[in-house]
Amino acid sequence: MSNYTIISPVTEKPVQELHLADVAETDAVISKAAKAFETWRLVAPGDRAKLLRKFAAIVDAHNEELAQLEVLNSGHTIGNARWEAGNVRDVLNYYSAAPERLFGRQIPVPNGIDITFKEPLGVIGIIVPWNFPMPIAGWGFGPALAAGNTVVLKPAELTPLTAIRLGELALEAGIPEGVFNVIPGKGSVVGNRFVTHPLVRKIVFTGSTGVGKEIMRGCADQVKRLTLELGGKSANIIFADADIEKAAAGAPGAVFDNAGQDCCARSRILIQRSAYDKFMELFEVAVKKFRVEDPSLDTAEMGPLISATQYQRVSEFLPEGTPIAFQGSKPSGPGYWFAPTVLAPKDSNDRAYREEIFGPVVSVLPFEDEADAIRIANDSEYGLSGSIWSRDLGRAVRVSRAVEAGNLSVNSNSSVRYWTPFGGYKQSGLGRELGPDALDSFTETKNVFFDTQG
Ligand code: NAD
Repeated sequence: MSNYTIISPVTEKPVQELHLADVAETDAVISKAAKAFETWRLVAPGDRAKLLRKFAAIVDAHNEELAQLEVLNSGHTIGNARWEAGNVRDVLNYYSAAPERLFGRQIPVPNGIDITFKEPLGVIGIIVPWNFPMPIAGWGFGPALAAGNTVVLKPAELTPLTAIRLGELALEAGIPEGVFNVIPGKGSVVGNRFVTHPLVRKIVFTGSTGVGKEIMRGCADQVKRLTLELGGKSANIIFADADIEKAAAGAPGAVFDNAGQDCCARSRILIQRSAYDKFMELFEVAVKKFRVEDPSLDTAEMGPLISATQYQRVSEFLPEGTPIAFQGSKPSGPGYWFAPTVLAPKDSNDRAYREEIFGPVVSVLPFEDEADAIRIANDSEYGLSGSIWSRDLGRAVRVSRAVEAGNLSVNSNSSVRYWTPFGGYKQSGLGRELGPDALDSFTETKNVFFDTQG
C-alpha cells in the first residue's frame, strides 16, 4: 500500500493525498470488470446507447467542475480544460451512435449463409499519460464501452483527479457498477498488471515511446491486442509562398499550447530559406505576445509545466551555449514556469532538434525547396502530426502525401477532431483512435457459416 501527494504545478503546494492501488487491489477490480462484462455485453444496443448519452449529458453538466479540477491538478489553462471536458462529452455522444450500428457482413457463399459479427473483446486496460488526462481517457473508454467491453483505466500518477471524477459520473449516469473502473496507481504496478493479467484482453496505451515498447513486448506473451499512441517531433513546414503572417501568428500556439506537453506539438519549424528572416521577425512578435500566466485566468494561453521533474528534464535540453534565438515571458514566484523558447540550431544534429522535449521549446531550421523540406521532415523516428503552409494547392497535396505522419493539417495547426482518425506512423504509435474505424480495434470479427442444406 502506498500513498501519493498531488502537487499543484501552479503553487507547488499539496492538493490532495491519494491511495495508490497494489497488485491485489488491481486484480480485484479486473475480476469485477470481467464479471460485469458478462451482462454489459448483453445490454440491448439501444439501451447501451442511451446510457452513453446519459453519461455524456452528465459530463456536460459538470463541464466547469471538471475543468476547474484539471486547472488545479494539471495547471491547464481554463480555456483548454473546458474544451477537454467537452471533448469527453463529444466522444461519448459520437460513440453512443455505435451500439445500434455495429454491423457485420453477409458474404455470398454456396450452400448456406455466411455472416460476420463484431464481438466485444472483454476487459480493456487503458493507460493514460499526464498531459491530457481527460481527452485521452475518453478516446479509450468511449468506443470501448460502446462496443460492449468493460474498462479498467489507470490515470497517470501525477494527474488522476478528473479520471476519478469521470468514474463517479459514469455511475451517476447509470452505467452499471464494474463496467467502467478507474484505478489510480503506479505504471510499474497497476499498468504492468493490466499487461500481465490474462483477463485484460486489450491494452490502450498512450505515453512515451520507451514505455510503449516495454508494453508491446509484455503484450506479446498473451498475443494481447494493443493500441499505442506514443511520442512525436512534428514538423511545421512553411513554404515561402504561404501566408507567412498567418503561419507566424499560429506557430506559438502550435507548439506552446499546454506548455509544449503535447504529443502533436509542432516542435520543429521548417521554413523556406527565402522567407526565413521575414518569418522570424513576425514569429518573435507572436512569441513575445503569447500569454504565460495563471492558468485559471480566461486570458491565459499557457500555464506551467506539470512538475519539478519535468522542469528539470526540459531545462537539460538547454545547456550553456544553446543557440537561443529569442524567448517569451513567464511569471516569477512559485510554479514550474518555463518561458517559451525558440532555438535556431545550425543543423539537424542538435539534441533539442531531434528529441521530443515535451516542453515549450521549438527549433527553427531553414530548407531550400520542396524535396529538401520533405527529406528533413521525414528525418525523424517519429511521425505523429504536422502542418504544411503553402498557397500552391498542388504542392500542399504533394507534401501532405509525402510526409510520413498520421495527422497533418494544411494552412492550419489543428490535429484533433473526434470523428476523424488519430494516430502515428513509425515510432509514434500503432493503430488509430477516434473516427469511424476505432470500433474495429475494440472488437473481434467473428465469421459464422450456416449450412442451409441439411
Ligand atoms: P509515460 O510513458 O511515462 O507514462 C504513461 C502512462 O504509462 C502513465 O500512466 C504511467 O504510469 C504508465 N506506465 C509507466 N510505466 C509503465 C509500465 N512499465 N507498465 C505499464 N504502464 C506504465 O508517459 P508520460 O510521461 O505520462 O506522458 C508523456 C508521453 O506521452 C510523451 O512521450 C508524449 O508524446 C506521449 N503522448 C502521446 C500521445 C499520442 O496520442 N500519441 C498523446 C499524449 C502523450
